Amino acid sequence: MSFEFATATRIIFGAGTVQQVAPAARQWGSRVLLVTGHSPERWNNLHGEIEGSGAHCSTFAVEGEPTVDLIAQGLQQARADKCEVVIAIGGGSVIDAGKAIAGLLTNSGEVLNYLEVVGKGQPLQNPAAPFIAVPTTAGTGSEVTRNAVLGAPARKVKASLRSPFLLPRLAVVDPELTLNLPPSITAQTGLDALTQLVEAYVSIRSNPVTDGFCVQGVPLVALSLRQAFHHGDDAAARSDMSLAALFSGLALANAGLGVIHGFAAPFGGMFDAPHGAVCAAILPYGMEINLRALRARAPESTALGRYQEVARMLTCRPDAAAEDGIAWLRGICSQLEIHPLRAYGIADHDVPTLIAEAAKASSMKGNPLVLTPEELEEILRRAIG
Ligand code: NAD
Repeated sequence: MSFEFATATRIIFGAGTVQQVAPAARQWGSRVLLVTGHSPERWNNLHGEIEGSGAHCSTFAVEGEPTVDLIAQGLQQARADKCEVVIAIGGGSVIDAGKAIAGLLTNSGEVLNYLEVVGKGQPLQNPAAPFIAVPTTAGTGSEVTRNAVLGAPARKVKASLRSPFLLPRLAVVDPELTLNLPPSITAQTGLDALTQLVEAYVSIRSNPVTDGFCVQGVPLVALSLRQAFHHGDDAAARSDMSLAALFSGLALANAGLGVIHGFAAPFGGMFDAPHGAVCAAILPYGMEINLRALRARAPESTALGRYQEVARMLTCRPDAAAEDGIAWLRGICSQLEIHPLRAYGIADHDVPTLIAEAAKASSMKGNPLVLTPEELEEILRRAIG
């Protein structure tokens, strides 16, 4: 056995820990870029704390999922303001934007030079500017991953900027920041975390360290996602979901993902659809067809036993079969109002493109076996509904 495990330099978890962000940033410089979601005024307190520590703070707002052009704009602002430290406080979109800006701040040239799949995929030459990630959703785990997912609208696809240099210097996970997440975003992001935990657990690149995070994380989602959806102010449920999302990031960054994220990348590039909702809509079918293909072509694969273990963790039933896990997933998708993919306007003629793009997506590389084009089509058609 051989493996590597890498993560953010430092992780702080707990209610109220957002107060540690400004002092931490100050140790790395006196000019800060604060990357936020569409309402920067929500973070006036943090802005005040940063300026109160004697640093200059320039704010950059991210409206939706980040694109290559948006990163170029953020970079221009960070350079004009001579920023030395980048803080991103928001969902995965904001964290990925901040991560990409911090990475490019210390490297010359355009974003596309470094982007996988649609760009030149060159490695970053220099360590990123010190970057602090503060998630306000409980889903992506981007606070501990080494990639930033960026949309390239001209190519209608999402692709990653990826480098060990992109691992945040500090991740501050404060579950209180998720207390006012609306139910729909709680559901979508929570199911993104669950998809990441399941895909990392059955990945061909899983290792004992990532396994530990997956077997801790899946039961947290099973226990607390419904509660966080129905009772958003339940601090214990929110804490569980923030922890599950953190674990999902720790796992995926080191074990990789599979067919569900393989589809989510091109789907998110072609349609305006929330990333987590897309993952959730595909998850039961990806699991079902992977299982069938493993039984037929790789009956010795350890992923078969792992799918059964996932089912046991989700259903809390020691005698559960893998199929019971799939049924549990279908049930929670319907209870948490996850729409089939047809809700986003996908047409028949989009199917071949999505299959071709999914087959070459970097997220597909951990799938427990290589799926045939027919199997990929079956997953997609069933997720379309
Ligand atoms: P998001 O960041 O797009 O946010 C979804 C919505 O929630 C937005 O409208 C946002 O304003 C709102 N929001 C965020 N925090 C809130 C809060 N506390 N209260 C109320 N509203 C809040 O969604 P996300 O699922 O967190 O991130 C999705 C992005 O992350 C996608 O682009 C996806 O590709 C990427 N991603 C990255 C990684 C990685 O490792 N880098 C992993 C998974 C996904």
